[in-house]
Amino acid sequence: QKISQNIMKTCPRYEMDVTFHPEEKKIDVFQTIEITNDKEKELKELYFHLYPNAFKTFDQVPFPRGERERAYPEGFAPGYITLKKLLVESRQINFEIDDTLLKIILEEPLKLGKKQVLTFEYEVVIPPSHGRFGCGQNTFNIANWYPILAVYDEKGWHKDPYYSVGDPFYSEVGLYEVHIKAPKDYTIAASGSLQKKYEEGDQDVWSFNTGLVRDFAWITGTSLDVKEVSAGKTRITSYYPKDKEVYGMQALDHAQNALFFFNDYFGQYPYDEYCVVASDFYIGGMEYPNLVIIGVDFYSAGEFLEYVVVHETAHQWWYGLVGNNQIEEAWLDEALAEYSTLLYYEYFYGRKTGQKVYEEAIFNPYKLYEVSNTPGPILRPLSDFTDWKDYSAAVYYKGAIMLMDLEGRMGKGKLQEALCYYFKKSLYKNATTADFIKALNHVTGVDWTDYIYNWLECNEILEKVA
Ligand SMILES: [Zn+2]
Repeated sequence: QKISQNIMKTCPRYEMDVTFHPEEKKIDVFQTIEITNDKEKELKELYFHLYPNAFKTFDQVPFPRGERERAYPEGFAPGYITLKKLLVESRQINFEIDDTLLKIILEEPLKLGKKQVLTFEYEVVIPPSHGRFGCGQNTFNIANWYPILAVYDEKGWHKDPYYSVGDPFYSEVGLYEVHIKAPKDYTIAASGSLQKKYEEGDQDVWSFNTGLVRDFAWITGTSLDVKEVSAGKTRITSYYPKDKEVYGMQALDHAQNALFFFNDYFGQYPYDEYCVVASDFYIGGMEYPNLVIIGVDFYSAGEFLEYVVVHETAHQWWYGLVGNNQIEEAWLDEALAEYSTLLYYEYFYGRKTGQKVYEEAIFNPYKLYEVSNTPGPILRPLSDFTDWKDYSAAVYYKGAIMLMDLEGRMGKGKLQEALCYYFKKSLYKNATTADFIKALNHVTGVDWTDYIYNWLECNEILEKVA
């Protein structure tokens, strides 16, 4: 409670008035953001990511070359963001845009402890891609779609582009108030809580407020059915196509079980809402605060729906509540999400099934990858991964194998204690590998630094503990 109140004093505050034009696949936005300098004596520049610009030309879209047909099954069309106006404290200002990066040179440096309000007016064109940002037959996936403040930390500004492998995002928590005007036949799932919904002419306006979250995403469509259930103080809502009700209900069930379990195991999910949304999405699942995208293809018979829903739900803790630089240290959220998923299976289905899931979803795929590839280290920046297979093998599989080995060495209870400590210490912040090691050391009184770095930096998997 106290942590969140302190962060709220200085975190960025976004306010957006959005008009959604589905026919034209466009969004018009009026956005203000209040920024407080809590970092440096003075900030002379500010940087924002304009991720929609990554979707401008087919040659450079952030999908690996071999996957572009799948990403654009209805053919390519560009997506981008056009800034129409940018004001700093009501004054026009010059800015430079280099692809997905917006640089603002402030006329008056922003002094420590001071705040400034920036006003943006822009238009976003949504591409027909079945990725995080795009649209298909059923849904518009509106994620990584607005100018988001880049992170400034001890290394300075993080100006990374939109890599095609991994989740190339790194952000701080902020508060969002978002009003979306859309035609009446559209249903909207979004980060935050719906405060009110009202008519304006022949349109509906949906008003969302968030708690401290590190991004704001929304999914919309005309043929989404909705079912909800609660887990403690949180309302969980499942969105799915009308003809997929059976699986929409299953997704709801899995999310509820996962939320109950992780609340208990790691620490409380503090938000009122959690949405699980079946989307036109070909890459599996994707996590956003209070909302996860699940590829609609998973809404069919088989065991994968449960796995992907639980994995994405685990990200509400590892990525959402405890953030990390997903470009430099992706293992922190991905390996922990995989390990959390294994804990879930062991808890609900018993030790034997837990072990079987570990072998089938983690260990064997890793071994299979090793047969015809040379695996690389877990700890690499996204720019060093050649493709999703390389990334999955190192970050998901080998990362989870390391955590299972760690569990074997320190004991499941101690590792749980360490993860609870890590969660509590880094809640709403961005954690690093060093913070993770600190948590291990704290609960065991043993220094795990060499052990963790040996794993993170080696090419092979290390000898498994007997
Ligand atoms: Zn993940």
